Amino acid sequence: MEKRVRVRFAPSPTGPLHIGGVRTALYNYLFAKQNGGDFLLRIEDTDQTRFVEGAEEYIIEAFKWLGLKFDEGVGIGGKYGPYKQSERKPMYKDYAMQLIKSGHAYYAFDTAEELNQRRSEAEAEKKTFQYDCKTRMSLRNSLSLSSDEVASLLENGTPYVIRFKFEEGETIEFDDMIRGHIKVESSLLDDKVLYKSDGMPTYHLANIVDDHLMCISHVIRGEEWLPSCPLHVSLYNAFGWGSEMPKFAHLPLLLKPDGKGKLSKRDGDRLGFPVFPLQWTDPKTKEISSGYRESGYLPEAVVNMLALLGWNDGTEQEIFSLEELVNKFSIDRISKHGAKFDMEKAKWFNHQYLQKLDNDILSEEYFKELKQKGITTDLSTVKQVVELIKERCSFAKDLWMNSDYFFTAPVEYAEKALKKRWKEGTSDTMRIISKQLHDIDDENWAQKAEDFLMDYIQKNELNMGQIMNCLRLAVVGDTKGPNMLDIMKVLGKEEILNRLDVATEKINL
Ligand code: GLU
Repeated sequence: MEKRVRVRFAPSPTGPLHIGGVRTALYNYLFAKQNGGDFLLRIEDTDQTRFVEGAEEYIIEAFKWLGLKFDEGVGIGGKYGPYKQSERKPMYKDYAMQLIKSGHAYYAFDTAEELNQRRSEAEAEKKTFQYDCKTRMSLRNSLSLSSDEVASLLENGTPYVIRFKFEEGETIEFDDMIRGHIKVESSLLDDKVLYKSDGMPTYHLANIVDDHLMCISHVIRGEEWLPSCPLHVSLYNAFGWGSEMPKFAHLPLLLKPDGKGKLSKRDGDRLGFPVFPLQWTDPKTKEISSGYRESGYLPEAVVNMLALLGWNDGTEQEIFSLEELVNKFSIDRISKHGAKFDMEKAKWFNHQYLQKLDNDILSEEYFKELKQKGITTDLSTVKQVVELIKERCSFAKDLWMNSDYFFTAPVEYAEKALKKRWKEGTSDTMRIISKQLHDIDDENWAQKAEDFLMDYIQKNELNMGQIMNCLRLAVVGDTKGPNMLDIMKVLGKEEILNRLDVATEKINL
């Protein structure tokens, strides 16, 4: 019988969550939901030296914002809890002892100085020191020392670590769902520390024990964990859990925009884009790193963008709702190669999602923003404006720069455009036009005004582009904006004529 699909996202609370981590969580989520399985949040905080205040809360808030719901875990609960490793601390020792008893692990008493000494000796010979099957008998551990010595060291409370013992001359083999079959020679691997005498397990031990106890069926995580996988596979076998071992999938890296190396926490603000879902203030240095949320991204756009950084459905389709992603996602279609982060593409996704956003919601938000700016207007005008200019915006915050002229008359006119368009005599022509526009009756004024303009330009053999651009300059102050008819409709007769009068007065050519 196939095991129920249960996957986990297992971050260490060492700082804000990198978007690479968010992508890992997303792929886990998609896989779980597609298979009707469970998606867990486990906090791996065994390394107390790297613990950062606020990181756990940040992680939980980030997923709330992104709309990715966990079924079990920290902050939610569930029958396999607690889900925070520091709260599971007492249980790990028994597992470490189990490995000592079965001969898969041993005590090591070497001090940091002794190990450093060995490292320098190796370096002097241009070698790298490794605690492994070749060196362990020349170090101080329960394999090289007599059992009496070991007993007395333990009795005296000598600090120790428990290391995994890789047998010599074995081939460790496993299948990765993305990378295929992998073989590693055990003699090349170092005897990793599993447990320390301060009572804390290391990541490796806690991770394997918890995955087992929480019945995890698939481990989907970043490529940086691939080198640890032979140890993890060996741990499963050493515990006698080999037949229940989860399937592994190691995801490709997220690369810098130029493809040269892993996208790092520092890259974002250096290159001008966020690498964190939410803004983060370092509790110690107070340094602020930007977040997608605060930069105006919509969570659905971020999710869609991340899904496509390393996966596609085999077609040209790029816009996927979360539901569609759940249906279409497949581990088979995850690329083996790193995915380059593309800032323009991120903006493009947001643009797409902004266009889909309900105009009423967007208008209400914008209406509030305008009020804060001290602008008096009404919601129906704001709605008209939003409809006209939304397509020019990638973010809600772009609305203002694309539509300020609907709410405040220009105080100056774009110099370059003025030089190019406003000829000698233009002011006179504009005055004549203004007078004529004034005489058109109010009902359906904008359309009639436009018809008149077309007619007038033709009859007088004027340059259409030039006249219309000057009208725009007078009304908008620049060459930007949707078509003049729409602008005239929103602003109305009185405002248009006012602006035209001010312009002909100010621009003296
Ligand atoms: N705690 C590890 C991390 O921070 C989890 C790795 C894994 O998924 O096994 O990424």
